[in-house]
Amino acid sequence: MPYDPNVTPAYQTFESPYPRFALAALPSPLDRAERLEHSLRAEGCARVPRIYLKRDDLLSLALGGNKIRNLEFLIGHALAQGATDIITAGRVQSNHCRLTAAACARAGLRAHLIFTGARPAIAMGNYLLDGLFGAKTYFTGSDDRTSRAPWIDLFIESLPDFGRRPYLIPVGGSDARGAVGHALAVQELALQFDAIGERLTTIALATATGGTQAGMLAGLRKLGSDACVRGFAVAKAADDLAIDVLAIANEVAAAIGGPAVMARDVAVDGAFLGAGYGIPSTAGATAIQMLARTEGVLADPVYTGKGFAGFLALVRSGTCSPNEAVVFIHTGGAPALFADLAAPL
Ligand SMILES: *Cc1c(COP(=O)(O)O)cnc(C)c1O
Repeated sequence: MPYDPNVTPAYQTFESPYPRFALAALPSPLDRAERLEHSLRAEGCARVPRIYLKRDDLLSLALGGNKIRNLEFLIGHALAQGATDIITAGRVQSNHCRLTAAACARAGLRAHLIFTGARPAIAMGNYLLDGLFGAKTYFTGSDDRTSRAPWIDLFIESLPDFGRRPYLIPVGGSDARGAVGHALAVQELALQFDAIGERLTTIALATATGGTQAGMLAGLRKLGSDACVRGFAVAKAADDLAIDVLAIANEVAAAIGGPAVMARDVAVDGAFLGAGYGIPSTAGATAIQMLARTEGVLADPVYTGKGFAGFLALVRSGTCSPNEAVVFIHTGGAPALFADLAAPL
């Protein structure tokens, strides 16, 4: 359907089925990236759409990021259950762990963060902030992510002996409850688009656990939008991730009473993963530079740099129409710029 500014989509708006603990002022900003558009045209790209950045990196808690939206519902649930301690896990530069630590500070909860690998000699980036927020940090000593499960079990089993009530938040906060935050995020975006007379057609983002992509897909279908969500995988193979996205999306769909999400609606592109999760890529570094130099916006080497590299490739491929408006979801991550990640960034 071509864009018609006189037709306002009749969105079926919805509310969260879960209690929310407010962590950020909403909505996050939506910014047009005209200098970026200009730069793409200047390099000879013929079909440049209107490009918008949804600035979830500016969500107003502890340097921002998409995980704040998950945490509003996960912390909301923990508090409703009378929890005293939150347990979660990740890699040492996890944005999710940093934001869980900050959210726990705000909610008066104790955060236990379980990391793969060895404790770094010097605290940098997200890990430095974890300590600042008062989180307890533990290292399994193994780089294998399955090494975290026995630690998690130990905490869940032993904390009650000390009169504490543990609540487990899954990696990335990406259960259906957390991902509902992203169904609401896409509704927020749809209403912002409405207000400026734009129609949602294509959304792009970095995808890791898949919760953000899944929540957005379920949210769009619930709204009655057929816009596509193109995820650029940064943590694992695209095929495996697509299965996760579909499963979470359908759990979210059930929770918000929306239509089922179809496998054909799940678009995960694995071409920008590079050498693997947390390993900076040349394409990602180039994309980070381009965003910084055209818009003064910071992306990170682990997530948004690779996601943005995918987004730039999508625009350069000429498949977007110059008459459409596309959105890159800026999911945050800039604290990792201040960590000792290996070259190229
Ligand atoms: C976690 C994260 C993502 C990916 O979100 P998922 O819901 O795990 O797919 C993208 N960007 C940043 C900065 C993140 O921290």
